[in-house]
Amino acid sequence: MNTTSTREEQRMDLAQANVKQQAAEWVAKMTIEEQALLLSGDGWWATHGVERLGLPPIALSDGPHGLRKVRRNDSAGAEGSVPSTCFPTASALAATWNVDLLREVGAALGREAQAVDVQVLLGPGINIKRSPLGGRNFEYFSEDPVLAGRAAAAYIEGVQGEGVGTSLKHFAVNSQEDERMATSSDLDLRTLHEIYLPAFEIAVTEARPWTIMSSYNLVNGTYASENAYLLTDVLRRDWGFDGLVVSDWGGINDRVAGVAAGNDLEMPGSGDYNRKKIIAAVEEGRLSKPALARAATEVAALILRAVAGRRPDATFDVEAHHALARRAGAEAIVLLKNDDHVLPIASDKQVALIGAFATTPRYQGAGSSMVNPTQSSNAADELAAIVGDARLSYASGYDAEGETTDALVAEAVQRAEGADLAVIFAGLPDSYESEGFDRRSIDMPPGHVRLIEAVSARQPNVVVVLLNGSAVSMPWASRVKGIVEAWLGGQAGGGAIADVLTGRANPSGKLAETFPASLEQTPTFPNFPGRAGHAVYGEGVFVGYRYYDAKRIEPLFPFGFGLSYTQFAYEAIRTSTMRFDADRDGAVTVEVDVRNIGKVAGKEVVQLYAHERAPVVARPVNELRAFKKVALEPGEQKTVRFTLSRRDFAYYDAAQEAWAVRTGTFEVRAGGSSRDLPLVAAIDVSAAQTRTKPLSRRSLVGEFKRVPGGEALYVELVRALGFGALLSTDDEASMTPDEIVAIRKARMATFAFIDDMPAIKVCAFSHGALSEARLDAMLELARKGLAI
Ligand code: BGC
Repeated sequence: MNTTSTREEQRMDLAQANVKQQAAEWVAKMTIEEQALLLSGDGWWATHGVERLGLPPIALSDGPHGLRKVRRNDSAGAEGSVPSTCFPTASALAATWNVDLLREVGAALGREAQAVDVQVLLGPGINIKRSPLGGRNFEYFSEDPVLAGRAAAAYIEGVQGEGVGTSLKHFAVNSQEDERMATSSDLDLRTLHEIYLPAFEIAVTEARPWTIMSSYNLVNGTYASENAYLLTDVLRRDWGFDGLVVSDWGGINDRVAGVAAGNDLEMPGSGDYNRKKIIAAVEEGRLSKPALARAATEVAALILRAVAGRRPDATFDVEAHHALARRAGAEAIVLLKNDDHVLPIASDKQVALIGAFATTPRYQGAGSSMVNPTQSSNAADELAAIVGDARLSYASGYDAEGETTDALVAEAVQRAEGADLAVIFAGLPDSYESEGFDRRSIDMPPGHVRLIEAVSARQPNVVVVLLNGSAVSMPWASRVKGIVEAWLGGQAGGGAIADVLTGRANPSGKLAETFPASLEQTPTFPNFPGRAGHAVYGEGVFVGYRYYDAKRIEPLFPFGFGLSYTQFAYEAIRTSTMRFDADRDGAVTVEVDVRNIGKVAGKEVVQLYAHERAPVVARPVNELRAFKKVALEPGEQKTVRFTLSRRDFAYYDAAQEAWAVRTGTFEVRAGGSSRDLPLVAAIDVSAAQTRTKPLSRRSLVGEFKRVPGGEALYVELVRALGFGALLSTDDEASMTPDEIVAIRKARMATFAFIDDMPAIKVCAFSHGALSEARLDAMLELARKGLAI
């Protein structure tokens, strides 16, 4: 994690400190009623201001892949929003693995927000894709926290660089849509910290979002919107977040508890419903005045930041943003299969375009992220613009729900037979994935599958272009030569697809999520989604590729995978040291040499994973620690540099509530996909043994051996149990070999029993020879590190 504080950042710190101080001064002038007023929105999309003091209201709008500025503040948005550029959705943007591009998209979103006087954009959404069934996966980046965190940080920098705030959402552990307002995500502390929090941590510490949105769900039984551990201990105390926490829309449960826990702003507004409760709680002493003032200060500070960033005359270049959406869409496309170099389409080929998505594409998801685009495009028209109408024919193949008929299939087969190549557009219709519900299956509509099977039976050259927000099964994969994952590519997605199919753009996307061969293979099967109020995160840290790797399961396409029209060779890996003291050395540098050994220019995503050779705790085989996208001309070689620090070797030790590193050998593995890591370098990592918990009555007898001075205490416990004689092996000198074998076996089994026994049990086992008082005295000695 980057902790370097640049001069620019220090200036920002100062500016932010001033904002906070100024906000606190305003709040000090407010009545309790005015402070409480600030804590709930005014309508759906605005905060309150305090007119008496000249503090104006500000506007918040969705997000995340385009601006959804609803025309009326008293409406959720059913009557539509003002036109704005619809960029590819998050699952596509993450597949670019290009943080500079994400920053550019963020900046464009910021400009569009300025142009319509919106001060906070409600995005990005970065929840971890726990299951491919997650209804909102199209709106989230990845199954991996580092990729999701870096993508989010770049996006936030882009938006906020334009003077518009972001709302990093949904905090936290919000990976299911069914019953989303009433389900508790139940998980252990290690999984929380290793999988579900780091993306937020990276985005918060590196990009400082102005706001963060608490999620609808509960976490281990407490609503995220009133979860003091998440909102105060982790977010503010550990990560230093100094912005505002806003509820998800309607995510407030107990408002007073929420304020006390660190939730500052309720959205949408609840009129005076919750305001009265807050005021009553303050009057009755159930909510402290400083807690109310703290939350009001955050709202006032957000307003001050927003006012300072406002650019009243801002406009944006509609065409330039459409072009950026096209570039981002093309860079997001993942080429999954390209047998016989069927792509790019050779310039002398007749092409049959099959599938209604070729002319009426699905290019965005449903729900709060739905954008009213400034223009639209489709692949059929865009291809025609590049290769000319004469080379193309078309058959729709299926209807809006993906259903087909004998006649539609027959027409499609006829078109395919009359061409050199068939490009079938398939994927998921609108009704298959949306905010608000989870998918039931990862299968595409039967009509799409039937069409692919029928066409590929009669035409050997078939390419399938997929338009979908998350992973789908592909039982037909072996029957076709090419598979192009085009995601929900935004309003310029048609042009992006045309660019890749014709070779104008060389595909460089890589999967940001594993594509399983079947639903049964997935880490959460059959427990997703959780029901009856609980989602049990039983797979622990083994989410996404971490699961497939640990179980040695071959997915359909692995995390990080994607082909190109050129090839890359991984030539060498170097580390700055072979020995890394995790406690003392700041960082280790890893260099990877990669070369374009093909004939065309291309981009490669160099991925770096960490692997611990002999972990003591169960750890994923490989964990993504860093990545970088590089552009390479044919024959060109570049060296990519990564910096790893202590945290990159650490696991979260739940007992200590801290990150811990074990001394041992690690490998850094580099390559072009999680399942193709040809370069390996070993590093011996050392770290002081992590602190052990102070011993207690429930500590195991064996644990006494491991504390300073504890050996004597251990001996006392063993003696109290009557097994003191087994501690010495002197008697073996007078034994026969058979007797030695027998006594050693007995000793092994006895100590296995004793060492794993809670100390308090020694009292009963010894019939009181060890008294509870003596045990407590021993514990006290052990705590002080003293012998008896
Ligand atoms: C969604 C948020 C969104 C908000 C406002 C909620 O239902 O979960 O992501 O920002 O509505 O539209």
